[in-house]
Amino acid sequence: MSEQQLPVVVIGTGPAGLAAAAHLHERGIGHLVLESGPAAASAVREWSHVRLFSTWGELVDPAAEKLLAPTGWTKPDAAAYPTGGDWADEYLQPLADALGEQVRYEATVTGVSRAGRDRIVDADRESQPFVVHFTTPAGEERAFASAVIDASGTWTTPSPAGASGLPALGETTAADRITYRVPDLKDPAV
Ligand SMILES: Cc1cc2nc3c(=O)[nH]c(=O)nc-3n(C[C@H](O)[C@H](O)[C@H](O)COP(=O)(O)OP(=O)(O)OC[C@H]3O[C@@H](n4cnc5c(N)ncnc54)[C@H](O)[C@@H]3O)c2cc1C
Repeated sequence: MSEQQLPVVVIGTGPAGLAAAAHLHERGIGHLVLESGPAAASAVREWSHVRLFSTWGELVDPAAEKLLAPTGWTKPDAAAYPTGGDWADEYLQPLADALGEQVRYEATVTGVSRAGRDRIVDADRESQPFVVHFTTPAGEERAFASAVIDASGTWTTPSPAGASGLPALGETTAADRITYRVPDLKDPAV
């Protein structure tokens, strides 16, 4: 298969990854979307209870809207503010569903390299296809790609609490007592 025929691999089904996939679909470019979680927008779902500061009108990508239109999807009120859960359930999951089998869940990307190239063999690296390594519950897999879009986000690598991008004094020592999440205070388990 020539490099032109290889799909573009998109890492992540957050709003950026799914919008990228919708644009690839619009342009007729093959794509494969790999998501580590069991459903679309797994990171956004972790703060489902928080209401966004953006309106629906600012959160729906035009290419995604075109892809969703034939499925009977109704655009929510453009002036309303969804929660993270609304964003995931009412837009991101339907969008992932519209992309169909091109989206794979529980597929965690562990590395991206160039075919046949490593620390010793480097010649002509830029003309070689990408190799995307990922794990699924069934084991390890590899996919060849013409390009890779990393939309894996930053949710799993939060900034430290301290200034200047460094941990605050004591932050590392107290790490087991610090959370970087947004607790749901209505949840009796919190
Ligand atoms: C509380 C809160 C409120 C916010 N409110 C707003 C708002 O009002 N307006 C606004 O514009 N933005 C808001 N944001 C920011 C916005 O949510 C992020 O900018 C956006 O989610 C980033 O999208 P993304 O697709 O890049 O990454 P994410 O949403 O983080 O998605 C990344 C996806 O990649 C998957 N993934 C990660 N690693 C791998 C891997 N190795 N292999 C496969 N998949 C992987 C994750 O499971 C996840 O589904 C808010 C964020 C938070 C936390």
